[in-house]
Amino acid sequence: MDAAEFKEAATTTIDEIIAYFETLPARDVVSRVEPGYLRKLLPSTAPDEGESWPAIQRDVEAAILPGITHWSHPGFHAFFPCATSYPSILGELYSAALSGACFNWVCSPAVTELETVVLDWLARMLALPPCFLSTGPTRGGGVIQGSASEAVLTAMVAARDKYLRETVPADLLEGSDAREEAVMLKRSRMVALATTLTHSSAKKAALILGCRFRAVRVREEDGYALTREGLAAALTECRAQGLEPFFLTVTLGTTDVCSVDDFAGVAEALDEHVPAGQPGEVWVHVDAAYAGAALVCPEVQEATRIGLIGRFHSFDMNMHKWLLVNFDASCFFVRDREWLVQALSVNQAVYDNKASDGGLVTDYREWQIPLGRRFRSLKIWFVLRSYGVKGLQEYIRRTIKMGEDFAEALRARSDLFDIITGPSFALTVFRLAAKSEGASLEERNALTKKLYDAVNAMGKIWVTSTELDGRFAIRLMTGVRTTQKEHVDAAVKILVEVAEEVMRG
Ligand code: PLP
Repeated sequence: MDAAEFKEAATTTIDEIIAYFETLPARDVVSRVEPGYLRKLLPSTAPDEGESWPAIQRDVEAAILPGITHWSHPGFHAFFPCATSYPSILGELYSAALSGACFNWVCSPAVTELETVVLDWLARMLALPPCFLSTGPTRGGGVIQGSASEAVLTAMVAARDKYLRETVPADLLEGSDAREEAVMLKRSRMVALATTLTHSSAKKAALILGCRFRAVRVREEDGYALTREGLAAALTECRAQGLEPFFLTVTLGTTDVCSVDDFAGVAEALDEHVPAGQPGEVWVHVDAAYAGAALVCPEVQEATRIGLIGRFHSFDMNMHKWLLVNFDASCFFVRDREWLVQALSVNQAVYDNKASDGGLVTDYREWQIPLGRRFRSLKIWFVLRSYGVKGLQEYIRRTIKMGEDFAEALRARSDLFDIITGPSFALTVFRLAAKSEGASLEERNALTKKLYDAVNAMGKIWVTSTELDGRFAIRLMTGVRTTQKEHVDAAVKILVEVAEEVMRG
């Protein structure tokens, strides 16, 4: 493809992308293809001769789009959003053109420096305590990871390293057998803590690291949040079993119900265990993968008391969920970047360079698990500049308000629906109301499941489900950029009609 052909192909591609967004509401939300559909449509080997762009592009509509579930569809109320927007797409275009494996500053200074700048912008927008800024008092800073799962794994690696450094006797010589023995013994006792509503990525990180994992049960009466008492009991139990907690994931906006752990209570319980800043303290990672986006609004900063997380060690949120940047843009902040560098810096002669040796630059390869990295800050920069803080606040508030309107509509039909949690960060979790007082849990679960299946089968909206204390429940989220009030009203209408039918039996 030469430049002239690229120009023509890019023009038709942009036209098609615009048409895609404009015709989205007319499509079914979820792809209806059968497993293996694509193999039947494509040849079994790559073409010997290159093909023309129009031939390739035709197959996007014919073969690919039927297998796409439309995460930007206004009727997409499942999971959490996975955002995109025009400025973000433009960022990807430039990033693809300026392709490089920008692991060290010298590999493309702009890639590293823009990332540092925009993550400082973001930290300020979200009102994170200054310790998470690259210019803050504790040598903190942010780095873009591929996902919240990668972020929690990275945090856990750094936390393990920090804990071992602080607790294995310093007089054991580095590299000695005695030190290795002491480290291995300690590792066998170390445990990562989370809650029963923490995202599965925390457990997966522990699995990958081969360390113990304990989930503290969170209860409905506490709003499904980790409390001081719950954590204190777990710490006591660990101690009694000879285990050493070194890591805790707390969540701002759990996946199932968008609950927020009690940060003040967590800090108090931890201070009774090992006070902040003392050797062997528990590293606290704040997982705000979805709801962290809402911190752009001062009222959310206040309600969540986000300033309290200055006591904790790391924070992560996905701009690619609810902040209009497309996947992947997981923004991970640490209070002291040295914790990452000490755990993840492995030298190899081929990567030596004067700038790194001078110690004046950031080499993000030392803040992450992979070596190479893309120019992801560009799309963040474009989105922040195109929308501005006010534009993003407006969008978040609009989608939160739609969540409130949705919950209000369910409350108005309390003969049909029971809200279990929410609305919280544009997420409401509900089930079918009891048909009669005597309906068993199993009967109510079966009826709610019937409603859920029937609604999704229609193709107009997509909702997902969860299970809370044995109760099957439906989750409906209103955070997608294209969703407007009329779409939420339509979702309510569908739910009411189907629920009435299910109730009639
Ligand atoms: N944490 C929370 C609270 C989530 O809701 C999710 C996914 O929805 C994740 C972590 C994992 O996100 P990722 O796909 O970025 O790993």
